[in-house]
Amino acid sequence: MKKNLISTMILILTAVTALFAQNNDERIPAKGFAVYEENGHFKPYEFTRHVVGDHDIQIEILYAGICHSDLHHVFADWGEEKYPMVPGHEIAGRVVAIGKDVTRFKVGDYAGIGCMIGSCRHCDACKHDLEQYCEEGAIMTYHGIDRYNGNEYTQGGYSNTYVVTEDFAIKIPQNADMSKVAPLLCAGITSYSSIMQAGIKKGDKVGIAGFGGLGHMGVQYAVSLGAEVTVFDITEDKRGDALRMGAVRYVNVNNPEDLKGLDKTFDFILSTIPAKYEPIMYLKMLKFDGQLGIVGLPAFRNMPAITVADFVLPGARRKVFGSQIGGIKETQEMLDYSVKNSIYPEVEIIKADGKQIDEAYQNVLNGKVKFRYVIDMKTLK
Ligand SMILES: [Zn+2]
Ligand SMILES: [Zn+2]
Repeated sequence: MKKNLISTMILILTAVTALFAQNNDERIPAKGFAVYEENGHFKPYEFTRHVVGDHDIQIEILYAGICHSDLHHVFADWGEEKYPMVPGHEIAGRVVAIGKDVTRFKVGDYAGIGCMIGSCRHCDACKHDLEQYCEEGAIMTYHGIDRYNGNEYTQGGYSNTYVVTEDFAIKIPQNADMSKVAPLLCAGITSYSSIMQAGIKKGDKVGIAGFGGLGHMGVQYAVSLGAEVTVFDITEDKRGDALRMGAVRYVNVNNPEDLKGLDKTFDFILSTIPAKYEPIMYLKMLKFDGQLGIVGLPAFRNMPAITVADFVLPGARRKVFGSQIGGIKETQEMLDYSVKNSIYPEVEIIKADGKQIDEAYQNVLNGKVKFRYVIDMKTLK
């Protein structure tokens, strides 16, 4: 009986000590912009980040890109979401604190965060550097549940600071153009990875369908590999931009004249289209054994479809694959390759201001953006 009492007291003491220790480990205050419901209106929001653990780094966010996926999440296009939500998974910043076991970063280094901040690290996908397909679920940079940090709801990059394990942070070379780096972490890696999977080489005929944030990165990577690139979009407005970025042809798909003579001419077509379209049109444009890579994911209510008949009849001996972002190792490769070859997104910098973010969202929705909005988080008041 006495023994029981003593062990109970020890238990209580341990619990009190743990609680005390937790109170000493103050969470880190953070602020940024959130939507409070699915209306696309941003308002200031204050929250906290978890403490800098032994393997973590804390980043002062300098720039955050506005990705089309952010709009899909804000408007709950891909299923139910939780609000307030701070979007942003294209993050570039500076390291301001490191945990005691961190080896790859020091205070003052530039660092980036893309779409994910954690995974199990032991499943088949993780072991193959494909953490985005983690069998236990990759932890998303925002709108995610961080099971390694008390199941906290993750908030993204439209904010002043982020705490992340160093294994999921990307090193940004000191000579990088920081105002343009952020979109590489999603738009860059998503197009780069699929182009690498397709094995594009010099002289290949490559089509890039959808000439937005992802598409204009895809054009630059394919051109840098020596491919002959054709760009597809629905407007006349971007014709000059495509040719300036090295494309040999621009196809306005609303102009039937432009589409003539394209069937069976491409080795690879990358679809970055985030809205309803007819994939069969692109399948027919592939040569035998050509590949269609799909990275654009439209809203569930507006999802394009390919039928079995499409594959066996006009699309026979063509391959279709889908791809999501890239693993951490490949993201680092992409970033180093981009900086070395001066491949950057074309960006329009806006201030960290709710009204400006709202306007940017309207312009992305209406296809008026060329090609990526980046929020200068240093202007956050
Ligand atoms: Zn994205
Ligand atoms: Zn895993």
